Amino acid sequence: MRLANVGGRTTIVIGPGAGVDVHRASGGRFGPEPRAVYALWSEFLVWARSSEPGPVESFDPHLLGPPSPEPTQVFAFGLNYRAHASEAGFDAPDGLPPVFTKFCSALTGPVTTVELPRGGTVDWEVELVAVIGRSARHVAVEDAWDHVAGLTVGNDFSERTAQLRPPAPQFSLGKSLPGFAPTGPWLVTADEFADRDDIALGCEIDGEEVQFGRTSDLIMPIPELVAELSKTLTLLPGDLLFTGTPEGVGVGREPQRFLRPGERVRTWVEGIGELEQTFVASPD
Ligand code: ZN
Repeated sequence: MRLANVGGRTTIVIGPGAGVDVHRASGGRFGPEPRAVYALWSEFLVWARSSEPGPVESFDPHLLGPPSPEPTQVFAFGLNYRAHASEAGFDAPDGLPPVFTKFCSALTGPVTTVELPRGGTVDWEVELVAVIGRSARHVAVEDAWDHVAGLTVGNDFSERTAQLRPPAPQFSLGKSLPGFAPTGPWLVTADEFADRDDIALGCEIDGEEVQFGRTSDLIMPIPELVAELSKTLTLLPGDLLFTGTPEGVGVGREPQRFLRPGERVRTWVEGIGELEQTFVASPD
């Protein structure tokens, strides 16, 4: 199942620009806003899978927003692919990778225009993003997928100067400028993938491939991330996990490369879809 946020209303995507408005079709039982659907995820799945999907309505793809626009918590993992840890100049983590947040105000839908800060060193990071569907506390690895509502595409755009400024790096601030957390175009449930633990993902700038990877190369895959985090805290319905980026970011290049005004970044994940961000100069 593909589940979109169309102008704040949860919609089961049936085809291009066509879907079922969950609130209307369920007689008001679920939604309309995505947060309310994640809060009743188990009941929603039973309803969505047992009833005839309908009536099908057309929707405007320009209205697509983030699949989970109001997560209580956003977790992002650093250095979760070996080759990326190496290009960033770090040893691969032993245990849970470094965790930071992307503050919620940075979240957007799939197609946006993003301002580059003056003098900024803004970098790209394609990531598979997991959305939590059921609360998770002390969850076993083998049960962890049951707590995931589905997967979506994300880019963990990062302003490297702020992120790495001494004396203590400001990861969360450097990754939370407006528009730096695009997600979408929709959530896809894990049963839709041939192998939910081996999904291709990549990123292009103006048609030039800069990143390509597979989630089978994650040092700590999604079930272990959920299990490990849930040893420390409670994961809540609608929470996001940015699972880490493969190699090919700009800061790891020789010479380093950062985004410039006018460049367009396409971020894609196999079996889900793509994001498109156009970068412009800051007006001040
Ligand atoms: Zn990242």
